[in-house]
Amino acid sequence: KDPERPAVPEPAKSPPAAPNGQPRIVFEDVVKRFGKVSVLNELNFNVAKGERVTLIGPSGSGKTTILRLLMTLEDLSDGYIFVDGEPLTHAKNASGKRVALKPKEVSRIRKRIGMVFQQFNLFPNMSVIENVMEAPVHVLGLPKEEARARAQGLLDQVGLGNRGDEHPTRLSGGQQQRVAIARALAMEPEILLLDEVTSALDPELVGDVLGVLRDVAENTDITMLLVTHEMQFARDVSHRVMMFDGGRIVEEGVPDQIFGNPREERTKKFLRAVL
Ligand code: ADP
Repeated sequence: KDPERPAVPEPAKSPPAAPNGQPRIVFEDVVKRFGKVSVLNELNFNVAKGERVTLIGPSGSGKTTILRLLMTLEDLSDGYIFVDGEPLTHAKNASGKRVALKPKEVSRIRKRIGMVFQQFNLFPNMSVIENVMEAPVHVLGLPKEEARARAQGLLDQVGLGNRGDEHPTRLSGGQQQRVAIARALAMEPEILLLDEVTSALDPELVGDVLGVLRDVAENTDITMLLVTHEMQFARDVSHRVMMFDGGRIVEEGVPDQIFGNPREERTKKFLRAVL
């Protein structure tokens, strides 16, 4: 660990969300194939409201695919995903048959989910603040001035309040990623998906991005699914860690157990390689 890196406040350890009540996310018998290759094979798991879950596991184990399925960036080959009890892309009809939902129905639920990618993916033809205003105006129909005020507040929150009028490419990678986080938050998502959001950054820029995310974890009840190689961060902010291998959950538990006392040989081996 770099002693020069500014210390970020430790988040308050909130208990895992109550296991009763409606789960925010349900994966039911989820199958994902690419061509003939089955990447996820009847995967089942739930995520509670407000819960923060980190997905770990070797490259190719299906972690990103899970986030992309939730974001409806990939088609579900079989099975169901539910958000707050509502089907995301496919539903069972009255006779129990699996049917695809209409695009309008999909987008209604999909709006409640935000995602931040490894490669920030900011709109290159817009200023920083326009990036953050775009979806609230065009997807939510927020009046421009209201969207601008919200965007300004979020840029302040990620420490970039004075950079709104600049072109994104003038910013460092870490700053661009903080804009991408602000952009996702501008939609006031119930679920935030974070896919290796610090992996493309120079090491000295990682701390600020993680600091912003710790802040979000600490001060909101947004349900979060994270894929990250930042194990200390995962340990600090998540309620639960799921270890994947070959598209299956090998082991899951609270971070202290998974990182401190893993049961499965596969998990031990993975953690020895990355820690
Ligand atoms: P992880 O995030 O754990 O590294 P991924 O979800 O990215 O794993 O990938 C799981 C598997 O799916 C890998 O074998 C990968 O090669 C494959 N895969 C992912 N996306 C595609 C795609 N668009 N076409 C074909 N195979 C893919």
